[in-house]
Amino acid sequence: MKYDVVVVGAGIAGPIVARNVAKEGHSVLLIDKKPAIGAPKQCAEGINIGVFEKHNIPYDKRFINREIYGARLYSPSGYTLEMRYSRVSGVILERKVFDKMLAFYAARAGADVLPRTEATDVIREDGKIIGIKAKKEGEPIEIRADILVAADGVESTIARKAGINTYAPPHEFDSAYEYEMLIEGFDPDLIHLWFGNNVAPRGYVWVFPKDEDRANVGVGINSDNPMTAKYYLDKWLKENNIPFKKILEVNVGVIPVGGFLKELVKNNVLVVGDAARQVNPMHGGGMAEAMEAGAIASKWIVEALKEENFELLKNYTTEWWEKDGKRLERVLRVRKVVEHLTDEDLDVFIQTLSGIDAEKIAGGRYSEVIKTLLKHPKVLMSPRRIALLKELL
Ligand SMILES: Cc1cc2nc3c(=O)[nH]c(=O)nc-3n(C[C@H](O)[C@H](O)[C@H](O)COP(=O)(O)OP(=O)(O)OC[C@H]3O[C@@H](n4cnc5c(N)ncnc54)[C@H](O)[C@@H]3O)c2cc1C
Repeated sequence: MKYDVVVVGAGIAGPIVARNVAKEGHSVLLIDKKPAIGAPKQCAEGINIGVFEKHNIPYDKRFINREIYGARLYSPSGYTLEMRYSRVSGVILERKVFDKMLAFYAARAGADVLPRTEATDVIREDGKIIGIKAKKEGEPIEIRADILVAADGVESTIARKAGINTYAPPHEFDSAYEYEMLIEGFDPDLIHLWFGNNVAPRGYVWVFPKDEDRANVGVGINSDNPMTAKYYLDKWLKENNIPFKKILEVNVGVIPVGGFLKELVKNNVLVVGDAARQVNPMHGGGMAEAMEAGAIASKWIVEALKEENFELLKNYTTEWWEKDGKRLERVLRVRKVVEHLTDEDLDVFIQTLSGIDAEKIAGGRYSEVIKTLLKHPKVLMSPRRIALLKELL
């Protein structure tokens, strides 16, 4: 088998690359080790509404579980901050369908797609990577390609096999544990987030509604915590008297929240999505970032193939860092300060920020946040809280 491009991993980033490159007439193979693309999910399935138009993805009810109109944040002492919009602000997807449909859009654009095909190694000839070794339904195969894309998620092995150092220490990852379950009593038009050092160290507990009485309920905490994420989730459910014997799925996963790969390209190999740790370090959402990176990577793959000049692939690194990397590094700096806030700080912030746009807080646009916080005496009198404001500047 010989292709222009082989893409390893049909999560979010991989199919976007495969679709965009195949659409321009190049031969592309997209593989995934899962027998059914998209399953099992490892995700709370929340995404901003803007990605559909931006990345030319149909707004298809088959993978949209529920439209969401905002968020409610809960502080350790029970203060709430609600942001409710008159328009749909995001959706809770059905990723088992969404990922499969993204792969289908790649197939429709001309890419070949093979599930249950696991990349096991790269093939080198005269020091150059000329393809991958894989197991297709258990049988060893070799796939030759001019360009290799590692879109194989947080545990990415293919980038490492290609000589790209993707190592990060455990502290730079969050551990997540989630039940999709029957849960009642939460406004199903909003996502719900609980903060507190005893609730979710460094992270939050979430309820992302998929129905009036069904939701993804999970927690993310720092991976090097002595207690498990499951411990915190079960504790939260017990403390809130939420019955947990009506569970439809258990989802476990790791989220890279500690920084980004500096070099996203080495010769003819590109790394995208979680494999390159392209995740918003504040809230751990990586789908939109994976799409964005996939779009930039595919643009330069198409250019490189057209010009027959693989040096152009390096522009993916440059453009990603200019467009997204710098912004996300700033979000990371703020997250690092936020993770040292006490429960009292969290109370003050959530109490004070009522009315601020959540997207501004998570997305790194802080001027309104700073103005509001500076009006509060409890913020002004605390050096720790002022330190946060300095990071926001
Ligand atoms: C519990 C949890 C909740 C989350 N909630 C949200 C959320 O609500 N919103 C959000 O935006 N993000 C969320 N995320 C993050 C989000 O899931 C990821 O950022 C996103 O899926 C990254 O897309 P990706 O394509 O880079 O990787 P993935 O979606 O992980 O896809 C990688 C694919 O590569 C395949 N693969 C791996 N190795 C190989 C191999 N050797 N050969 C072939 N195939 C291989 C895998 O099977 C997988 O399908 C959550 C993550 C977790 C763990």
